[in-house]
Amino acid sequence: VAKFVKNWSCILGLVLGATGLLRGQNCSQCAEWNKPQTPFRIYGNTYYVGPHGLSSVLITGPEGDVLIDGDLAESAAVIAGNIRALGFKVEDVKLILNSHVHSDHAGGLAALQRMSGARVLASAASGAVLKNGRPGRDDPQFGELRAIAPVHRLGVVRDGETVRVGPIALTAHLTPGHTPGGTSWTWRTCEGGRCEQMVYADSVTAVSATRYKFSQHPEVQAQFARSFAWLDAVPCDVLITPHPDASDFWERTDVGRREPVVDAGGCRKLAEEGREGLKRRLGEERGR
Ligand SMILES: [Zn+2]
Repeated sequence: VAKFVKNWSCILGLVLGATGLLRGQNCSQCAEWNKPQTPFRIYGNTYYVGPHGLSSVLITGPEGDVLIDGDLAESAAVIAGNIRALGFKVEDVKLILNSHVHSDHAGGLAALQRMSGARVLASAASGAVLKNGRPGRDDPQFGELRAIAPVHRLGVVRDGETVRVGPIALTAHLTPGHTPGGTSWTWRTCEGGRCEQMVYADSVTAVSATRYKFSQHPEVQAQFARSFAWLDAVPCDVLITPHPDASDFWERTDVGRREPVVDAGGCRKLAEEGREGLKRRLGEERGR
């Protein structure tokens, strides 16, 4: 009996240990985020292929396709299914890009890379995290982040660099703050002779681990300021954000309608909300 009790407590210890490990990796929202979404054309050659709560965008072309964001680990199968449902092939994805390395946008990258054989390109700071899958210590949310499956075939993009797959050309814009390597992407898409400036704008929310203070990190405040200024200035007809709700994507989108979800003020509004959020956070920190 003693042996049994000892073994049992050992198992209990393991379970508690695992629970401890998972503490701070709480993802009560993951199931909600990963709810299915019928994929659809946003505009021109640009399609929404993510689950309902996390964006993933497919840009198609004659020499291969580009995918932005892999979402959660469990989203990879959803995204692949959505690509197929639109009549495209996952194997045609030649290039995978990312907004930022948190598990809700980068958790599915490795699996999608495996399925497609695509190259992954990321900023240097994002690449460092993607390569080993472990959250970076310089991330404001460090300590409360989930690890992700490491990404293997990985290239680095610089700020302002344009990456191409055939005629598809996307430009990388480093927009750090939310994470050190946060990257936004812009491209142009035409449909019926009308062309729109597409912006996949990375998260600009000042979110952190419990003990972290933005007030103690003027360098991160400066990163945010530069990212907000970029959003203020970028030509922005159709805005897509990694969390669709962050830019009222579903209110702006009438799925199945052929009109684009044009909102020229979308990027500036996102910048304004980001500024307000950071200001509010700094105020709260003063009150602590
Ligand atoms: Zn994030």
